[in-house]
Amino acid sequence: MRIEIATLFPEMCQRVLDESIIGRARRAGKLDIRCRNIRDYTLDKHRRVDDSPYGGGKGMLMQVEPIYRCWQAVCDEIGEKPHVIYLSPKGQVFTQRKAIQLKEEYENLFLLCGHYEGVDQRVLDEIVDEEISIGDYVLTGGELGALVIADAVGRLCDGVLAEEVCFTEESHYNGLLEYPQYTRPPVWHEKQVPEVLLSGHHANIVKWQREESLRVTWERRPDLLKQAELDKKDREFLKKLEEAAHAREIEG
Ligand code: SAM
Repeated sequence: MRIEIATLFPEMCQRVLDESIIGRARRAGKLDIRCRNIRDYTLDKHRRVDDSPYGGGKGMLMQVEPIYRCWQAVCDEIGEKPHVIYLSPKGQVFTQRKAIQLKEEYENLFLLCGHYEGVDQRVLDEIVDEEISIGDYVLTGGELGALVIADAVGRLCDGVLAEEVCFTEESHYNGLLEYPQYTRPPVWHEKQVPEVLLSGHHANIVKWQREESLRVTWERRPDLLKQAELDKKDREFLKKLEEAAHAREIEG
């Protein structure tokens, strides 16, 4: 997969993308993530990319032409139109499901980072396929959002993580939150690692992990359970949790 990040701050993105797992995957040629400076595509002799909004209002807007020319350069290089995402607080909120969909459906992503008060609507109407927000708050620019998407999608790509289970067994992948995890030492501050994890009994460990995953999701994000794939045993376990909570309520 190739991901292009169109930004006024390529060095900011580059520094993050050079680090850790994503950095290693890029150096090993497993991931192609590039940062493109929108300013390189302005025709203005002062390299200007923004102007004040028509109708008044505070702040500046990014102009159409540099963004359009930047997108065109990418289209020319790859020989087709990439899937274009504009990072925006007005977009659909990003989820693991969306990360999986982007990885499965597109070979080329173009992530457009706004800045200042945003972007002239006309270029958005012309090139953008969807708008994505990384949460219900306002950031100074789209760069952090683009990095979030590049990381979440990038780590799903072949060869980036050691094995596929590294992401299929994590929070959100199957619609549930992950069970608690422990490593050495077995006792710390008088807190013991759950006995079952030291037992070596694989079937019991898998059962414990599934039930803990259900318990954590039920406690913290019960809304997720409505969409998760649950079997009969899962539903029975959740029923027991409900009943125990109900009994505690009556007692106390
Ligand atoms: N005036 C815009 C509004 O009210 O919707 C906000 C502009 S914001 C200060 C500047 C840029 O940051 C946006 O163009 C967008 O690219 C990015 N941005 C801000 N909040 C974001 C969020 N929650 N998710 C993704 N991108 C965001």
